[in-house]
Amino acid sequence: MRKPFHSIRWRLQAWYGLVLLLVIVAFCLTAYRLALDTQMRRLDADLGRLDWSLFHILYTKARAIPQSPTEPQQDTPMRIPALLRSGKITLSSSDLELFKGTEPGYAYFCMQDADGTVLAKSPNAPEGIELPKDFKPAQIDISRDAPNRRERLHVNPGGKSIIGRDIRPEQAEMRKLAWSLGLLGCTVWSLGLLGGWWIAGRAISPIARISHTAKRIAEGKLNERIGAPDTDSELDELCRVLDRTFERLREAFEKQKQFTADASHELRTPVTILLSETQRILKRPRTEQEYKDAILTCQEAAQRMRRLTEALLLLARQDGPDAEKQRSECDLAQCVQEALQQHEAQAQSRNINLVPMLNRVACIADPAALSILAANLISNAIQYNKEGGTVWIETRLEAGVAIFSVADDGPGIPGESLPRIFDRFYRVDKARGPQGSNAGIGLSIAKSIVDNHRGTISVESAPGRGAHFTVRLPLGAD
Ligand code: ADP
Repeated sequence: MRKPFHSIRWRLQAWYGLVLLLVIVAFCLTAYRLALDTQMRRLDADLGRLDWSLFHILYTKARAIPQSPTEPQQDTPMRIPALLRSGKITLSSSDLELFKGTEPGYAYFCMQDADGTVLAKSPNAPEGIELPKDFKPAQIDISRDAPNRRERLHVNPGGKSIIGRDIRPEQAEMRKLAWSLGLLGCTVWSLGLLGGWWIAGRAISPIARISHTAKRIAEGKLNERIGAPDTDSELDELCRVLDRTFERLREAFEKQKQFTADASHELRTPVTILLSETQRILKRPRTEQEYKDAILTCQEAAQRMRRLTEALLLLARQDGPDAEKQRSECDLAQCVQEALQQHEAQAQSRNINLVPMLNRVACIADPAALSILAANLISNAIQYNKEGGTVWIETRLEAGVAIFSVADDGPGIPGESLPRIFDRFYRVDKARGPQGSNAGIGLSIAKSIVDNHRGTISVESAPGRGAHFTVRLPLGAD
């Protein structure tokens, strides 16, 4: 059982959820902060208006009182504190219309002279609102927060005043806004998480399909495929690549199975001959000649097995990882010449005319492998030719490519056999050719050698008009 936080989907979701949460919280906090600032500015402007209204009432009253000649000459606003202190100005209940009650949103004020004595105060002003006598603000006008209230302090040479307002309605409004933002944030976050979960699920669904298919293939169902839609998505592209790889693996596996079956089949015939011959001869006493014949039959079967096992070993070496390590600078003509010499006796025995046209072609290759390649093609051209036929062997350089060709004027290869001619254990006619010596591996060894040298091998043939094999090899190491 997989732990949830080890799954890619969960990890993606966790990161996505965290980032989304941070963005939403930052957004909500900013929105709340902006709303709060706007509200504070509105409140301060409101307090300014209340201040002005109070001043206007006091100013009007002060102007109405004539100045006595004994009084020092002062501007009207400067006279207000003295008039209040002397009781010449009093505020009636209609003057205090704006500053009454304790209903939510009520306003209040308190005026003090320069010494800190309270000159006037609204009846609803909270306890202890007066400023200390030595209060000296850095600014003339300042705003301050008190519990559930907002106040504006105003200090001038004649006195100090505090205008305040109950802000519970605004606080309730802000609480409502906070709840709305919180609810909106949670909804957006939940929807984001759901969307993210769905998108992450869709994005990684090919991975689940890949692992499911890989499991089925591991169980032996080699025909299983992931089957990705034809989109540009990287994971779909990966699925298509994997499907192609699985297909190649299946082909390789099938080939391997076929190869093992064919090899066992080929080995079974000589083993059967050996067993039946020895059983037959041991049934009763035999003459010396009968023993000799039986031993010769067994020897032939053993030789056939040896040839087969040697051919299989050679093939395995060509397929193995060391096949490319034996490269050196060599002459293709010389490798072919060596193979030619080995088959001169075989050609003579069948009265075959060998026509070499060997031009020097220097290339980087495995000379031993090239000799085997040449030997297989020349041996076939002699073996499957008619008595007294001709074999043309040529090496040449053409457009930077080493060419080696073997042609004969024998019966040729039927068209339907041409596509399979390089398959392992494939024989055009099992009855044709010397019985028992050929297992149909020679051309597959030749093809493996050519493939290892990154070259190509092709054949042209028509029944009755001989076969023409052409090998093209690059000159360099690649
Ligand atoms: P084998 O070991 O049987 O010769 P090869 O792989 O060399 O196997 O060849 C496969 C088959 O191709 C042979 O059985 C033969 O029928 C056919 N073949 C190969 N070379 C020639 C040729 N030059 N002319 C006619 N048939 C050929």
